[in-house]
This record gives sequence, structure tokens and C-alpha cells, in this order.
Amino acid sequence: MRYSGLQVLWQGLTGNKGWTPAWRDPDPKPEYDIIIIGGGGHGLATAYYLAKEHGLTNIAVLEKGYLGGGNVGRNTTIVRANYLLPGNSEFYSHSMKLWEGLEEDLNYNVMHSQRGIINLFHSDGQRDAYARRGNAMANQGDDAVLLDREGVRKHAPFLDFEQTRFPIFGGLYHPRGGTARHDAVAWGFARGADQRGVDLIQNCEVTGIDIENGAVRGVQTTRGAIRAKKVGMVVAGRSSQVAAMAGMRLPIESHVLQAFVTEGLKPTIDNVITYGMGHFYISQSDKGGLVFGGDLDFYSSYAARGNLPMAEHVVEAGMTLMPMIGKAKMLRSWGGIMDMSADGSPILDKTHVDGLYFNGGWCYGGFKAVPASGHCFAHLMATGQPHPAATKHRLDRFNTGRGLLDEEATGSQHNLH
Ligand SMILES: Cc1cc2nc3c(=O)[nH]c(=O)nc-3n(C[C@H](O)[C@H](O)[C@H](O)COP(=O)(O)OP(=O)(O)OC[C@H]3O[C@@H](n4cnc5c(N)ncnc54)[C@H](O)[C@@H]3O)c2cc1C
Repeated sequence: MRYSGLQVLWQGLTGNKGWTPAWRDPDPKPEYDIIIIGGGGHGLATAYYLAKEHGLTNIAVLEKGYLGGGNVGRNTTIVRANYLLPGNSEFYSHSMKLWEGLEEDLNYNVMHSQRGIINLFHSDGQRDAYARRGNAMANQGDDAVLLDREGVRKHAPFLDFEQTRFPIFGGLYHPRGGTARHDAVAWGFARGADQRGVDLIQNCEVTGIDIENGAVRGVQTTRGAIRAKKVGMVVAGRSSQVAAMAGMRLPIESHVLQAFVTEGLKPTIDNVITYGMGHFYISQSDKGGLVFGGDLDFYSSYAARGNLPMAEHVVEAGMTLMPMIGKAKMLRSWGGIMDMSADGSPILDKTHVDGLYFNGGWCYGGFKAVPASGHCFAHLMATGQPHPAATKHRLDRFNTGRGLLDEEATGSQHNLH
């Protein structure tokens, strides 16, 4: 079914009885050309672009829970292309361009809102680091504007500018950045992949990877063995566990990242704002809730819930930046398991096993990467060659030390999700 305003009107007038399920619920077949492990944003986008761009449709996405139940439905929805390093800059720039045409491409409303992002700075040194980053963004063809204090005040008058330990000096404004509705992105890609013939199989956990003579032959699952010529591991926070099934040890640790939302308020915050002197960033959802988050929980864990000391830490930073937040009631908090790579940048690569591919290491920033990740990983799986926008995200950089994409060591703030 094609979605449109007319369709909504027609269904509304006829009792909303004509809507069909957005995707099928097929049983797994004994064999596929390609299996994607993980029905999160990246897995679904990979399947979608394999079908759309490469005409490959004998594909199954195997998801151990339900589609969109992982990080893709748990993040704070920020979409941006404000990276410094070559490798990351062109990749996230590619993603931003895909975002800008995504709703039309998927025929699905993912509520992409380019409301702009402001990264605050609080010292001359931090301003210089952001000026450098802004220049790199502009060189890449993306947008960046360096604001002084009054420039920030025009966007966000409610911040504490002067009476605070870290007065605000200004901000790096990225107007094309913004937000999108997280689970709608998963649903849109799922529907698009299903329409092109991809089998989306939920409640199907992969428990083993079959390898013979150095080549992948298929997977073992809770719904039986399934053969495949190619397999992509796209399981975000579970990357190390699934890769271990193929005898791989990854440069990835899993940590919980929490987020929080308040009761609905009248429109207060137009942009996404990140604090430069504490682990805190904030935006306002379309329902009015202030959505915010901060740093990782420090220990490794596979529990998708966080601890109270980190909640206190985030709220303290929020109170420092904008004391008015203390009046809002917190509605709920949640957590997701982050696949933290050693240099803070992702991996999209072949593995030592023929036909087995790995996509992961997204850290706290993999939501904005979803379209480019799917697009580039599909290219790699279909052609065997890296997509031009993702040539640097190689696994062997951690063995050789060459080509590491360490954004933290280049003066950025590591909580810019
Ligand atoms: C609180 C929070 C805030 C965040 N904020 C942002 C943000 O503002 N902007 C941004 O860009 N990023 C953000 N992120 C990061 C982003 O959400 C992730 O990097 C991204 O969603 C990860 O990729 P994914 O969508 O494919 O992961 P997931 O949705 O987690 O998909 C992986 C899937 O694999 C499945 N799986 C695991 N093991 C198996 C198995 N053995 N068999 C079958 N299936 C399996 C899981 O059930 C899961 O559904 C945030 C994350 C969190 C938790």
C-alpha cells in the first residue's frame, strides 16, 4: 500500500479498516543468498539497499526480539554531519544527504526535523577546536556557523550564560542537523525491504555461525539451521558475542548509555543543544518532552538499563546549563547497549571468513549513520568492494595502528551524540 495524505483521508472516512500490515511475518526458508543478523536500523537499512540498489532479494533479516526493539528504538534521535576527520566526514556527510531524501525514498514519515544543532563552547581553546571542526565541515560541503554568545542567546535565551562556573562563550551551529523519529526509521526501512521481497524474521536468535573450509555456510538459530552464501553481522551492542561465534575477538566493549525524558512542556527548545563542559545534551520532542542524555555508564554490561549515579551526573550537568529544567518532572529513563569501538569510529568490513561481513562499533552515534551504514554495507556485501564513502572503516586498523579514526583525540567532545 502506498501511503499518502489522500490515503489517510480515505481511511479516516471509511473507518480505518483498509490498512494492511506494514510487513509480512514469514517463516524462515532453509536457504537464502544473504542473511543479515540483527533487525536494528543498520540491519534493516542494509537489507533495504541490497534489494533496492543491487536487485538482491533472496535475503533474510534475523532478529532475536522484535524489529526496532534495540538501540534504534532507544536513542535520543539526533542526526548530524559534524565530524572532523577524513573518513568520518565524508561518511556522515553521505548519511545526511540520504536522510534528506529518506522520507520520499521510503514513502514513510520518519519525522526528520532539521532544527539545527548547537555545540556550546566555554573557553577560547574550545572555540578554536570548534572553529577547526567547522572549517572541516565546510570543506566537506556541510554547513557550520560559529556563533558568539549573543548568537547563541538568540537561539536559546533560557540557558545560564554568565552566572555559572563555565560561562558560555558561543557555539558551533550546524543548521542541517536535527532529529528524526527513531522507531519510525526502523519501520520505514522494514516496510521498504519487505515490499522488495526481503524476509524479516522476528523472534529468531542466531546461536551459531556455520563455517566450512574458511567460508561461511549459514547460521544456527532458535528456529533451526538456515544456509546462506553470505552473512552480515549487524548486532550493535551484541557485536562481540556474535563475532565470537565465528572465532573473532573485536576491539569493541559493550556499555550502557542512558537517556531521559520529562513530562510534555510548551515549546521551549528549538534546536539540539550540547553542553561543552559536562556530559549533557538536550532537545525537545514533538510531544513536548525534554529529551536528554549524557555519558556512558562506566562498566561493561549487557543489561539494557542504567544506574542511578549516572542519572544523577546527567541531571546535575543539566541543572548547571539550564537551571529551569529543575522545574520539569522526569517521566522516564531507559538504556541501550553501546558497541564502543577502541577509536570511537565504526567498522564496515569483510572478515577473515569468506562471505562473512561485520558492521558495528557505532558507539553512541549510530542512529544518524543508519542510512549511510546500510547503503555502504550493502555495497560491500554485494560487490566485495568498500563504498567510496566508507573506505577507511577497516577492521585491520586496530592491528596495524594505521588509519585510526580517533575523533576524541582531535579535540572534540565525546558526548556529542
Ligand atoms: C540512550 C541512547 C541514546 C542514543 N542517542 C543517539 C543519538 O542521539 N544519535 C545517534 O546517532 N545515535 C544515538 N545512539 C546510538 C544508536 O542508537 C546506535 O548506535 C544504533 O541504533 C545502533 O545500530 P542498530 O540500530 O542497528 O542497533 P540495534 O537496534 O540495537 O540493532 C541490533 C539488533 O540485533 C539484534 N540481535 C542481537 N544479537 C542477536 C542475535 N544473536 N540474533 C539475532 N538478532 C540479534 C538485537 O536484538 C537488535 O535488535 C543512542 C543510543 C542510546 C542507547
